[in-house]
Amino acid sequence: MLKFDHVSKAYKGSKKAVNDISIEIERGEFIVFIGPSGCGKTTTMKMINRLIEPSEGTISIEGQNILEKDYVQLRREIGYVIQQIGLFPHMTIQENIALVPKLLKWPESKRRERAMELLKLVNMTDDFLNRYPHELSGGQQQRVGILRALAADPPLILMDEPFSALDPITRDSLQEEFKKLQKTLNKTIVFVTHDMDEALKIADRIVIMRDGEFVQIGTPDEILRNPANDFVEEFIGKERLIQARPSIQTVEQIMNTNPATVTAHKLLSQAITLMKEKRVDSLLVVDEQHKLEGYIDVEMIEQNRNKADTVGEIMETVFYKVETDTLLRDTVYKILKRSLKYAPVVDKNNHLVGIVTRASLVDIVYDSIWGNEEGLAAAGQE
Ligand code: ADP
Ligand code: MG
Repeated sequence: MLKFDHVSKAYKGSKKAVNDISIEIERGEFIVFIGPSGCGKTTTMKMINRLIEPSEGTISIEGQNILEKDYVQLRREIGYVIQQIGLFPHMTIQENIALVPKLLKWPESKRRERAMELLKLVNMTDDFLNRYPHELSGGQQQRVGILRALAADPPLILMDEPFSALDPITRDSLQEEFKKLQKTLNKTIVFVTHDMDEALKIADRIVIMRDGEFVQIGTPDEILRNPANDFVEEFIGKERLIQARPSIQTVEQIMNTNPATVTAHKLLSQAITLMKEKRVDSLLVVDEQHKLEGYIDVEMIEQNRNKADTVGEIMETVFYKVETDTLLRDTVYKILKRSLKYAPVVDKNNHLVGIVTRASLVDIVYDSIWGNEEGLAAAGQE
């Protein structure tokens, strides 16, 4: 869809801001350029919509050199979101969102309809249509900035540090919202950030830049597992689990494969006996094929001993479980964050194959993630 072929940009009198970069970006791909300030991210981005022209090399979209396209037309076909939001203060939210549709001469009714449809995508009501930007919070304004880029339904969207001015909580929720939105709308996104957490969270592929050059291109996992050099390692940060412990990657590698189980038709008294035998306070409930159905713990039995006879009557069927190939870092995060004692591990067909306990996770990860004593104390609390 989008191709850079040996592209360089030199500003007069300074060294190259971008030096001989080549990459092919697939349709529907979410690609994130990351690197320290001044490494050439914005320059790379602006060459795509011809706000900056390359000194050497070619950029093409769908096989056509962008220099051969009319640049006004080109920019209308590419959504653009920047950090400073760039909403026009004297225009209403509807006018801001429907800016490009207006330039494309859509009738007013269609523009309004489009603005309403887009607001819905980010859970904002039609009440916002006639308001002005200053009446909105920073997070709402940035949502509108994104909607504006989506308005004429361009296949390609450029985003230059769009969330970096937001507070961490708003940023977090917008990242998630936007990642979901991108998957449903199937847009190609070129996204620039200097925040590694953001890149790891939202990217299909990450391009790490330094001094105008590409240092490494890969999926978040590839980069975490095999950082190309010291610079990338440094940039990822030591605290990230997989990089620190490359041998431990999936849940399967650390799970206990012998969890204590019970079937649903067993009596509560039998469950208690089992718990005593195995010295556990909770049992996973499985069917004859060893498919996971739920769990039961000693408190649930205590509370229901006069009301129920069998495990099936009182077991809990909604809970957090993981699959064998789930990455450990995701599981660690969830178990520790949600204060769960354990997570059952299932295969693709929901057969119970093991259990990851909080205690086992803490053992393995504390020194790489919570390397200091304060963090260790917090993570190790049971
Ligand atoms: P980033 O977005 O990664 O922070 P930029 O692409 O904005 O980096 O800048 C890359 C390099 O090009 C920097 O060294 C910057 O100082 C330089 N640069 C950017 N714009 C200009 C310009 N208009 N004239 C001269 N140098 C520039
Ligand atoms: Mg920049």
